[in-house]
Amino acid sequence: MTNPVPLREGLFRETAAGPTLLASCCTACGHTSYPPAPRCLDCGREAQEPVELGSDGELLCATVVHMGNHRYPPGYTVGYVTMPHGVRVFAQLAISAGEDLPAPGTPMTLEIVPMWREQEQDVLAYRFVPAPGKESAHA
Ligand SMILES: [Zn+2]
Repeated sequence: MTNPVPLREGLFRETAAGPTLLASCCTACGHTSYPPAPRCLDCGREAQEPVELGSDGELLCATVVHMGNHRYPPGYTVGYVTMPHGVRVFAQLAISAGEDLPAPGTPMTLEIVPMWREQEQDVLAYRFVPAPGKESAHA
């Protein structure tokens, strides 16, 4: 048994309060980038500081992908989730095949799970799970 490896360093981490996405915030103009960028995607300056987005967001839109790939069979769900700082994150959604898609505006919560295996190791990545009872952190 080997330890799972992250998809890529610096994208997410587990904290005592739950999983969080790691982004960068421009100290010049306040624009937040995810994944973190070495220079601001808005103003181009290099003054970036790390910021944690937390795990709570709100669904912007979702769709079912009917073409499989080497990691996922056909019928998986992807979507955009709006996170704090106005960041939109594209990710897989934890929706079973045949289940109704959650409506835009549904509160979503981040989950870090082994998503596939590569070279006999589980690869950790993130996806969003509908959390309808939860108050969205995004106002
Ligand atoms: Zn900027």
